[in-house]
Amino acid sequence: MSKIAIVGAGQAGLELALGLLQNGFEVTVVTNRTGEEIRTGRVLSSQCMFDRALQTERNLGLNLWDDECPPVEGIGLVVVGPEGSTVIDWAARLTAPAQSVDQRVKIPAWMDLLTQRGGELRHADAGVAELDDLARSHDLVVVASGKGEIGRLFGRDEERSPYGEPQRALALTYVEGYRDRDDFPAVTFNLIPGVGEYFWFPALTTTGPCHIMVFEGIPGGPMDCWGDVSTPDEHLARSLEILERHMPWEAERARGARLTDPNGILAGRLTPTVRHPVAELPSGAPILGMADVVVLNDPITGQGSNNAAKCAGHYLASIVDRRDGFDRAWMQATFDRYWQEARPVTEWTNMLLAPPAEHVVEVLGAAGAIPGLASRIVNGFDDASNLMPWWGDAEAAREVVAREAQPA
Ligand SMILES: Cc1cc2nc3c(=O)[nH]c(=O)nc-3n(C[C@H](O)[C@H](O)[C@H](O)COP(=O)(O)OP(=O)(O)OC[C@H]3O[C@@H](n4cnc5c(N)ncnc54)[C@H](O)[C@@H]3O)c2cc1C
Repeated sequence: MSKIAIVGAGQAGLELALGLLQNGFEVTVVTNRTGEEIRTGRVLSSQCMFDRALQTERNLGLNLWDDECPPVEGIGLVVVGPEGSTVIDWAARLTAPAQSVDQRVKIPAWMDLLTQRGGELRHADAGVAELDDLARSHDLVVVASGKGEIGRLFGRDEERSPYGEPQRALALTYVEGYRDRDDFPAVTFNLIPGVGEYFWFPALTTTGPCHIMVFEGIPGGPMDCWGDVSTPDEHLARSLEILERHMPWEAERARGARLTDPNGILAGRLTPTVRHPVAELPSGAPILGMADVVVLNDPITGQGSNNAAKCAGHYLASIVDRRDGFDRAWMQATFDRYWQEARPVTEWTNMLLAPPAEHVVEVLGAAGAIPGLASRIVNGFDDASNLMPWWGDAEAAREVVAREAQPA
């Protein structure tokens, strides 16, 4: 039976590892943070996951928090006009609920499952030498190290990477006491042209149910404002100041908000990048990149964990199918199958980072009066192929609007 090594115990690496164990493979996972370090450390993500990605977890019996985690039943959209008023405001239901389980809860639990189910978990910060050792002792090495440095072994795919620098200043604030929507629990997006985006939704964290506030500030703009924040209390205060200044309706909801814990905060930025999926080690051995290593998107559409889960599903099927003899051509083909799924997500996400085209504003506005269109957009978060390629094509977008406007 083949021996598979996976570097990185995140959403992608662990989900793949647990799937491989179920299929009788010998699995070694090498990761640089212990479960305890993750559980007691800073939040890592807002990790809202939609149905198709959640299904990959259910397929492997990894959906351990369905009873505890508050559901996300829809998506709301507010677009703010020049005078600070709301010019678009609607919400629609998802076909099936989404959920966000704090990775500080999920990852340590999955690490325990891995060892219980016979996998080997090694604690090490893997570099090139360790990868070469793994390539000698294992039939396949998969690198699932997320945004970690070793991902740079994989060359940047210039054609698929339109941005050379971060497009948003990112921040997360995990809170209790945020007043929920009256209609249904949802991801509520606020788009403020020239400033950035703010969205929030219910989630499960280490202290129980909470809400996650996500800030996406345009670099150099008024929401790119985290550089001088040095304490958790200052981070919360800055989060609330942004709402007060740009979205008073959200400030009203957040009136009673307090941090879930001092580590329930994060600020940073990343450059969206697609990389070539196969790298070569000094020994000549090829290694396969996975999830954020090879397709890193800005969180503006909340797709990274979804992609990571779907990537795990595709790679698992491909490894189980092949069983051994994992050569370069197989690696490329394995990624290419995943790219069919990741491509519309990546292209849509990259479009949303640019100032919106006129037809996109028209589509978003029309959806307020056309339930079928709103539903299509909302469920595009689960499956972006519902949105592409028409999202980027004015004529095609107007056709979709016209079709959805017709009575059923
Ligand atoms: C602010 C923010 C908000 C987000 N919100 C969402 C959202 O709402 N929905 C969504 O779907 N996605 C979201 N994401 C993205 C999502 O969190 C990631 O895309 C997802 O976690 C990627 O999974 P992964 O397994 O590829 O990498 P990771 O989860 O990053 O896991 C990589 C693992 O590898 C380990 N590692 C790194 N280097 C090494 C090394 N050299 N040796 C050994 N181990 C190593 C790391 O410690 C880590 O445990 C968000 C991201 C950010 C930054």
